[in-house]
Amino acid sequence: MSDPRHGIGCPFDHPGIQVTEYAGDDDFAAIYNVAPILPGHSLVVPRWHVERLMLLSKDEICRFFTFAGKVTNFLMFHFKAEGFDWAIQDGMSAGQTVSHLHLHVLPRWSGDLPSPGDWYSRLKLPIIANLQNTTDSEGRTRLHETDLRKVVAALRAAATGYGLKAVVEKRTEGAGGDQDRGVDQASGQNAGSQRGGEPGGR
Ligand SMILES: [Zn+2]
Repeated sequence: MSDPRHGIGCPFDHPGIQVTEYAGDDDFAAIYNVAPILPGHSLVVPRWHVERLMLLSKDEICRFFTFAGKVTNFLMFHFKAEGFDWAIQDGMSAGQTVSHLHLHVLPRWSGDLPSPGDWYSRLKLPIIANLQNTTDSEGRTRLHETDLRKVVAALRAAATGYGLKAVVEKRTEGAGGDQDRGVDQASGQNAGSQRGGEPGGR
């Protein structure tokens, strides 16, 4: 089965995303936002290219939010947060700027922003692909790549300790087979193909 992720220019399908990934399973990944609104600001995404939440099967929706819940618990613990925001912008009319389903997870602390709701207007376009840029379209500061790698490395180690799977940084595009498989860094066990055995013919 050909993989619809390849060759469409989606930033979440870009190999550069692996730099920011700190936890995942066969189907979903947690990635660090390169221009975080607040510390810990992450995105949870399906590994295959899918635009809208309701294009997931019932089972996939269940597993997507179950994984997101684990990631959120981890972030709350790791960043000693007091609360969190979740946001999905589903469709252009809802503010979706990248046509790949993504859930924002934002750890919160009292007084972290002038008003608790101030995060939402800052959501517009962070993203991933061009790590050389220092600001995004909204002027939010991107982490320098060196700092980003440090943050992600620390999160990978902590996430593994928390019971989330870490995922290898290098996942070869296109070739399929063993090169395309994630490996659990903690155990060295193969974490399985991203595309194997999926129901519903993605
Ligand atoms: Zn995509």
